Amino acid sequence: MGWDQYCSASAPNDRVRSLAMESRSRSSNHWRALFDLITPHRARVTAISAVLAVAGILPLVGPLLIAKFIDDAANGATSAHLLWLAGIYVALGVSRQLMAVAVAWTAADLSWRVTNELRSDLTRHVLHLDLGFHRATSPGELVSRVDGDVTALSEFISQFAAKAVAAGVTLVGLIAVVMWRDWRIGLGLAVYLAIATATMLSLRDRAVDEAATEQAATGRMLGEIEERLAGADDLRSNGGGSHAVATFQKASAAVLRSSLARERQGVALWIISNAVFIIGGLVILAVDAALLSRGSITLGTAYLLFQYTQILREPLGRLADETERVQRAAGGMSRTLQLLAETSSISNEGSTPLPTGALGVELSDVCFEYRDEENPARVVDNLTLSIAPGNSLGVLGRTGSGKTTLARLLLRLVEPTSGTISFGGVSLHDVEVAELRSRIGVVSQDVHLFEASIHDNLTLFDETIDASAVRAALNELGLLDWVSAMPQGVETKLGPGGAGLSAGESQLIALTRLFLRSPDFVLLDEASSRVDPTTEARVTKAIDRLIDGRTAVVIAHRLSTVERLDQILVLEDGRAVEHGATEALSADTNSRYARLLALGADIAVDEAVVAYD
Ligand code: ATP
Ligand code: MG
Repeated sequence: MGWDQYCSASAPNDRVRSLAMESRSRSSNHWRALFDLITPHRARVTAISAVLAVAGILPLVGPLLIAKFIDDAANGATSAHLLWLAGIYVALGVSRQLMAVAVAWTAADLSWRVTNELRSDLTRHVLHLDLGFHRATSPGELVSRVDGDVTALSEFISQFAAKAVAAGVTLVGLIAVVMWRDWRIGLGLAVYLAIATATMLSLRDRAVDEAATEQAATGRMLGEIEERLAGADDLRSNGGGSHAVATFQKASAAVLRSSLARERQGVALWIISNAVFIIGGLVILAVDAALLSRGSITLGTAYLLFQYTQILREPLGRLADETERVQRAAGGMSRTLQLLAETSSISNEGSTPLPTGALGVELSDVCFEYRDEENPARVVDNLTLSIAPGNSLGVLGRTGSGKTTLARLLLRLVEPTSGTISFGGVSLHDVEVAELRSRIGVVSQDVHLFEASIHDNLTLFDETIDASAVRAALNELGLLDWVSAMPQGVETKLGPGGAGLSAGESQLIALTRLFLRSPDFVLLDEASSRVDPTTEARVTKAIDRLIDGRTAVVIAHRLSTVERLDQILVLEDGRAVEHGATEALSADTNSRYARLLALGADIAVDEAVVAYD
C-alpha cells in the first residue's frame, strides 16, 4: 500500500471522539449513538414527524368519505352535495401524492445530512489510523464499512422513518376509527391484525434467510471474478485459464441454486400472505352481511369495514419489510462504532509549530519493530544521525534492510519503539501530524497516478495551479521536452492507475508534483533500479533540482542517484553499517561505498551489494 495517501490525514473531530467514547463505554448501545447523531437535526425531525402523521392518516380518510357518500346517497342527498363529496375525494387523492413526495424528500434529506457527516467522520478517522490497522484491513472491507454500513443507516432513516412510521400511524388510526364505529368489530379487527402481523413476520424471517444465502453466494462469485481478473495476465500466461473458468462456473451455479430457492420461497410467501388476507376479507364480508341484515350498521359502514381490511394489507406488509432494515441498521451502527473505537498508536497532541524554511532532522537511538508475530525482528536498530537544514542524505541498502521503514518513521506513519526523532529541533511528538506532513514532500516506492491528464496528475486536481506554473515546473526540472513529446503534451490522458507510463516515468511525474508543492523536506523512495538510461538521466537531473535548497532523504536503488548527495548511510538489517560525508566515504578506499563505486556508478545497489558480498 502506498503511503503518500496518508499525508493529508488530519485529526478526527469532536463528534468522532464522542461517538468513539460512546462505543467504548457501551458497545451495545448503538441506538443511543444513532439518536445522538440525529439530535442536532431536531428541527428537521419535528418537520418529518408532522409530515408523517398527516401521511399516515390520509389513507384512512378516503374510505370514510366513500362510506359517507354511500349513506348520504341512500338517504336521498342532493347531487350537489354528492358532487361536493366527490370533489373532496379527488382533492384527497392529489394531497396523498403530494404527501408521498414530501415524506420521501424530507426523510431523504435528513438521512443524507446525518449519514454524510458520519461518512466523512469515518473516512477521516480511518485515514488517521496507523499502518498496523491498514495492514490488517483490506481496502474492500474498509469501503464496505465506511460506505456499506453507513448506507444501511441512511436507508433506515429514510425508509424506516418514511414507511414504517407512516404505516404504524395508519394501522393505529384504522383500529381507532373502526372502534369508534363499533367497538366489537374494532376488537375483532385488532385480533385479526395481530394474527396477520405474526404470520407476515414469521414468513419474512424465512425469506431473509434465503436472501442472505443468495447474497453470500453472489459475494463469493464476485470475489472469484475480481481475483481472476486481477490475475488475468498471470493466469493466461501460466495456463490457469480453464481452472479459473471451472471455479467461476461452480460459483455461478451456487448463485443460480440459491436464487431459485429464494424465488420458490418468495412465491410460497406470496400465496400464504394472500390467503391470510382473502380469509380476512371473507370473514369481514360475512360479519358485514350479518350486521347489515340485522340493521345494526349502515351500508356505508359495511363498505368502510371491508375497505379497511383491504387497506390494512399494505401498511402491514411495509412494517414487516422494514423490520429487516432495522436489523441491518443496528448491525451497521454497531460495526461503525467498533471502527470508531479503533485507536491509532500515533498520538496527535502536539501543537508546537515547526520553524520556517528547510528543516534539519535528528534521529537519536531510534529503534523500530513491526508488531508482527511472524516477523518480530527489529527493522530499524539504534539509528542515530543528523541532517543539517538544506543538506541531503542518501540511503543505501539491500532489499528489506529497512529503508522504507525509516521513511515511514520520518513521516510519522509509524512510531519508534524507542528513541526520538526531531524536525527543526522540535520532537515529532510535539508537532501536529498534519503540519508535519504538510511540510514534507514524498515520492513513495509505489507512485500512485490517476486516470486523468498529465496536468491533473501533476496538480492533483488543484485548480489554483495554472498551466503556466505546471509548464514552469516541468521546465525547471528539465522535463518539458519529455512531456511535450507526448501525443497531447501535458493534456495527454493516462489510463487507470496511470497506465501508459513506466515506473521511472511515473516517478518523474511524482517529482514534478512535489516540486509544485514546494515542501521544506523531501523524502524520495526510489521506485526501481530498472530504469532505462534516458529516464534515469532525467530522474537524476530532476532530483538534483528538486532537492536544491531543501533538506532531503533519498532512498536510492542506484549509486548514480546518491553520488551528489551530502551524506551516505548504508543500512543492513536496520543497522547503520556505514555513515559519513559522501566525499570522505568515496575517498576512503576501505569504505563500502567506495568499493561499491568501484563496481561502477551506474550499477543497481542490490546487484552491487550481492557482487560485493
Ligand atoms: P526495498 O529495497 O525492497 O524497498 P526496504 O529496505 O525499503 O526494502 P522495508 O520495506 O523497510 O525494506 O522493510 C524492512 C523489513 O520490514 C522487511 O523485512 C519487511 O519484511 C518488514 N516489513 C516491511 N513493512 C512491513 C509491515 N508493514 N509489517 C510488517 N513487516 C514489514
Ligand atoms: Mg522500500
